[in-house]
Amino acid sequence: MLYYSTNKQSPIADFKEATINGQAPDKGLYFPETIPSLPAGLIDNINNYSKEEIALGVIQPYVGDTIPAAILRDIITATIHFDFPLVAVKDDVYSLELFHGPTLAFKDVGARFMSRCLGYFVQGLNKHVTVLVATSGDTGGAVADGFYEVDGINVVILYPSGKVSSIQELQLTTHGKNITAIEVDGNFDDCQHMVKQAFADKQLNDNLFLTSANSINIARWLPQQFYYFYAYQQWHNKQAPPVISVPSGNFGNIAAGLLAHASGLPVQHFIAACNANDVVPTYLVHGNYAPKQSIPTMSNAMDVGNPSNFARILEIYKHDHAAFKNAVTAYSISDDETRETIRGVHKAYQYLLDPHGAVAYKALENYLETNMGEKGLIMETAHPLKFYDVVEPIIRQNITTPESVEELLTKKKSSIAMKPDFDVLKSYLLS
Ligand SMILES: *Cc1c(COP(=O)(O)O)cnc(C)c1O
Repeated sequence: MLYYSTNKQSPIADFKEATINGQAPDKGLYFPETIPSLPAGLIDNINNYSKEEIALGVIQPYVGDTIPAAILRDIITATIHFDFPLVAVKDDVYSLELFHGPTLAFKDVGARFMSRCLGYFVQGLNKHVTVLVATSGDTGGAVADGFYEVDGINVVILYPSGKVSSIQELQLTTHGKNITAIEVDGNFDDCQHMVKQAFADKQLNDNLFLTSANSINIARWLPQQFYYFYAYQQWHNKQAPPVISVPSGNFGNIAAGLLAHASGLPVQHFIAACNANDVVPTYLVHGNYAPKQSIPTMSNAMDVGNPSNFARILEIYKHDHAAFKNAVTAYSISDDETRETIRGVHKAYQYLLDPHGAVAYKALENYLETNMGEKGLIMETAHPLKFYDVVEPIIRQNITTPESVEELLTKKKSSIAMKPDFDVLKSYLLS
């Protein structure tokens, strides 16, 4: 498989080059030249497949011969060594729980897969790689966990001071060793902007081997397709596939779902569930894409004003607005609605949503109201505990803390404070 840049001004790359580069040299995103069809039998006999076999079947064509089969199998096994249960919330709504990994959010899968692929690729490079990443909350912890103690790779994580939850902050500031956290006195867009400037800076790139671990990296993006297959595998009625509602920020997760669908996975319809950051819902209604400053909300991992994976969705639908609109309905859900949804669902069904899952839930309800008889599922992207500061006051109960988190709470935060100024970051990286 070869990959082109969505800006069309870069050489074609294979999976290895695209993974090492992160972003294409022309600042576009890598996209597969062709969308492979699924291995024969995978859909019709999906219940006979293990989750490793599904993952291998889906990812193999994208990796090609850049990773030997036995190593790819090991990478997959290590990537998905936890559960992805589909839980019934009520009659017509299910929740695919993607939070059973080490950092309690769905980003573990992409980060674990990418870190292992990159770890394999740098073995032959004889260079030290610096992974530079901006996080609005969950990426940082997943990337820190995925890359911790991977030989030949240093990780530098930028996060907005005071705008991530306390558990998120501990997950990205307590590793030490090859992981460094930079606490930026600004918002997520400032962090992302600094990272983008770093990738564009000639002097930095002459001195360091920089790459990104944001969802723009194909090795983080592509394995997110697995969730959609695991959802379908557990779905009770293969004749009537689910409507899938995806809490969306940078649109990497939903773009992976749309890719899986384009390669042959049955899905009834997709819902892009957004918070107040409504660039895509506005685009779907009016047809013009107008990036904005991000607005802080209680579902902070989705506070993105210019979603990077939008460019990939346009590629999937070949820039056909009508085709995009036909497959995806988008909603913008307010913080008040999110709170009300967490409270209401907990009360009626004893199911506790996190704020991101609640946005997806509310958007799915909106859709099902006007599409009677359909059934759907939400991608529950984080454990509610990760956001206990907002969730506990809503339900007026404490959330039980898993052991892994209790241990985390005893650790000490270590970060480097920084103004949102690229020159400061640059001199830090060069020092
Ligand atoms: C990152 C994140 C999202 C948004 O995912 P995208 O792929 O950026 O759209 C949603 N929910 C949670 C909990 C996240 O961490």
